[in-house]
Amino acid sequence: MLLCSQDAGISCTVSIPVVYHPLYSAPLPSSHRFPMAKFRLLQQLLLSRDLIREHQIHQPLSVSRRDLERIHRRDYHQAFSSDQLTRPEQRRIGLPATKPLVQRTWLAVGGTLLTTRLALQHGLASHLAGGTHHAHPGFGSGFCIFNDCAVAARVLLDEGDVKQLMLVDLDVHQGDGSAACFADEPRVFTLSVHAASNFPLRKVSSDVDIPLADGTSDEDYLQTIGDRLPELLDTIQPGLVIYNAGVDPHRDDRLGRLSLTDQGLLMRDHLVLDACLRRNIPVATVIGGGYDELSPLVMRHALIVRAALEQARLHGL
Ligand SMILES: [Zn+2]
Repeated sequence: MLLCSQDAGISCTVSIPVVYHPLYSAPLPSSHRFPMAKFRLLQQLLLSRDLIREHQIHQPLSVSRRDLERIHRRDYHQAFSSDQLTRPEQRRIGLPATKPLVQRTWLAVGGTLLTTRLALQHGLASHLAGGTHHAHPGFGSGFCIFNDCAVAARVLLDEGDVKQLMLVDLDVHQGDGSAACFADEPRVFTLSVHAASNFPLRKVSSDVDIPLADGTSDEDYLQTIGDRLPELLDTIQPGLVIYNAGVDPHRDDRLGRLSLTDQGLLMRDHLVLDACLRRNIPVATVIGGGYDELSPLVMRHALIVRAALEQARLHGL
């Protein structure tokens, strides 16, 4: 992708693939608290700021049933897709199984899989969706229906594209679904840094969990990640990192509880990407959670793409 780096104030040419589908923002009732329009608005913002160009966006296909079933049980995905989940199962997800919602759910998993493949080819790729980390093999939870990162990781392992992966999950909520998917899989290392007192109430242990106190600010947050992530990368030596860059650790987030600023989130994204790229570890990014008014929220989700473009330039991708 061509980019004039606004952050650095210098003109440059950087190439990273971005994955998006126009059907990601499925219609929801206007009263619904999930900000479904954010995917479309994020893509529009990036285009309008000239950070990405239309013809360079990769459009995914829906994940195949075969690939989805590497993680998810058939009875679950069939019940969800035909709107046959029980009321409690549906309530636990918190999203209605309308046709457009079902369609975007299958597409978004395909999108993360495509992003990981592009990351392996190019060193870095960004999905303008994804990170539904509360989805377990047999049930969904907390706005998460299918676990896109888990499906992508399993496909890459099964097809021999990588021998070892790491999920770096910095969404403010603990990555319980991903941890459950890979509890017995040493080839997928799960790291979750999250607000200790936040959803989900019952955590599932990741390989490394770093629970943080309410109100944790930029400095402590960045130091915690800076202290742990580099040594973990050196020890695990993953062939790919899938990075959940959720922006809900932000201090204004409705579901957050931490106190990061925009600048703190941007520095976090730079820290993660730089730590990986300087070790020649490819990174696929997904946007994860974020809950606020659409305008500031979409600006926050754009930070990971800004960081990715700048890091691609710095590392000569
Ligand atoms: Zn979250």
